[in-house]
Amino acid sequence: MLTCKDFLNELSDYLDECVDAEVRAKLEEHITECPNCWVIADTTKKTIRIYKGMDPHPIPPEVESRLMQALEKKIAARRK
Ligand SMILES: [Zn+2]
Repeated sequence: MLTCKDFLNELSDYLDECVDAEVRAKLEEHITECPNCWVIADTTKKTIRIYKGMDPHPIPPEVESRLMQALEKKIAARRK
């Protein structure tokens, strides 16, 4: 069973689709059970899409900055 820390460690590879099927399944299992990580994964995915210019309906800037703040806080907490 993955912890949130494990999940965050694998998140960027997961979003880059650089993880193998087994790891991917574990990460997906974790997000179905952990709303916190689900939000982080979803937010990060959307943010990446916007940065890559692939999202035709970008979220409003004030929403994005709020999400990014939450994400940064989470990442900062992980570094402690
Ligand atoms: Zn989690």
